[in-house]
Amino acid sequence: MKKLSFFICSIVVFGLIASANADEELKVVGTLSTYSSLAETIGGDAVETSSVASPRFNPHYIEARPSDILRMKRADLFIHSGLDLEAWRGPLLDAVARADLRNGGARQLDLSLGIPLLEVPSGQVSRSEGDIHQFGNPHYWTDPRNGLIIAQAIESKLVELLPEREAQFKKNLHDFRSQLEGKIVEWRAMIAPFRGAPVVSYHNEWPYLLNFLGLKPELFVEPKPGIPPGPQQLENLVAQIRSGDVKVLLQATYSPEKAGEYLSEKTKITVLSLCQNVGEREECPDYISMLDFDVRSLVKALS
Ligand SMILES: [Zn+2]
Repeated sequence: MKKLSFFICSIVVFGLIASANADEELKVVGTLSTYSSLAETIGGDAVETSSVASPRFNPHYIEARPSDILRMKRADLFIHSGLDLEAWRGPLLDAVARADLRNGGARQLDLSLGIPLLEVPSGQVSRSEGDIHQFGNPHYWTDPRNGLIIAQAIESKLVELLPEREAQFKKNLHDFRSQLEGKIVEWRAMIAPFRGAPVVSYHNEWPYLLNFLGLKPELFVEPKPGIPPGPQQLENLVAQIRSGDVKVLLQATYSPEKAGEYLSEKTKITVLSLCQNVGEREECPDYISMLDFDVRSLVKALS
């Protein structure tokens, strides 16, 4: 009997501890898998993370599902790109109807706020410039220096929401920073022989990575961000690629493939599908391995 009551007591105590831990976990929803992954790196067992956009689809054009709305209603923190990357964020937030997740709210984190943005338009932007990237280029997380800024912003927000875990978050940030800073040195050394090389991008979504690596994002398959290429645009590109000795065309795994196939056939340019977000390929299960895959693929194609 004594053994049985000890057993029952143990179950009750274990159950209480487990439920206390579950209550303590912050439910973090990121728009992109990259943000959720970084939140997991910094938050460890103090967070439960998920993302709205699958890395296998273009992050500009996502349709939120009813399950996303439900997760957002229960979220302790919403992490997003700000700017106009996620044009679907407005309708999603309307459906969720929580003021604290909207811009300026206490339980949202706009990662663009700490980032030195590229391509910020100086004058008024018209729709003829394409209907996205109106506030500057929003694909900023592919520069590892911005990855450090993002990780720091996530750490500060997690400390604000769960101050009793501050030491754990600080240690995780410190470990992440040490590892990434080591990789930054390695990646720069790998790309050094190719600095200044011009690169074509399908969509203008790689300027931050290319800027970090010292490569030139000069040509784009889309004539304006979000506008598909017509036959004349492709012919112009064939001429520019041939005359500029351009060796690589970058796209994401979800980019339309026909234009790249055509350009490759006409000019022998190498078409590279990189990971823009964590989980886009199996080689990219976290932030550092994603950039490692991207840099190694670029170096191989330029060699
Ligand atoms: Zn874009």
